[in-house]
Amino acid sequence: MKPTPAGWPRRQHWCVWVQPAADPGPSGIWERRWRGAVLAALATWGRQLAITQVDDPARAQVLVQRRRPPLQHNRASHGRALLQLVEVQRGGPWQLEPRVEVLISPGQGPAAIEATALHELGHAFGLWGHSDQAGDAMAAQPGSRPVLELSPRDRATLRWLQQQPGLAEPPAPPRP
Ligand SMILES: [Zn+2]
Repeated sequence: MKPTPAGWPRRQHWCVWVQPAADPGPSGIWERRWRGAVLAALATWGRQLAITQVDDPARAQVLVQRRRPPLQHNRASHGRALLQLVEVQRGGPWQLEPRVEVLISPGQGPAAIEATALHELGHAFGLWGHSDQAGDAMAAQPGSRPVLELSPRDRATLRWLQQQPGLAEPPAPPRP
């Protein structure tokens, strides 16, 4: 399990921006399908977490972009979550805030896009580690069927993260 950034799992409420479809005409159908699949994945997480979808990307801690991730170690993937620290001023002094950019490739079928978004959003919401079980949304290797729901293990990992005090060195996860 990769280390979780300090304080990250403690967030109670998330503002998420999902790239809108630029083309309102018939040729924008793929953009709208991509967005529909991403919003479905977001709604699944929304049953576990308080999530607000925002129109202004500057207000968001998680930004979902319709873009193929760049090659990593010469390997292509359909999704990636990139953590960065940004300086923000929210009615007080400037402070550093984590922000996650989630790249979801448009070049897949709707179910695969939704499964990819469910997995990468899990990273964004603090589940930076992977499961070795193919039926989990957070599986390291996607199984033959796209996972569109959170498994009991995914939900247990999320609850475990939410109970952590946000230490710099998180304790080891419990054994299943
Ligand atoms: Zn992953």
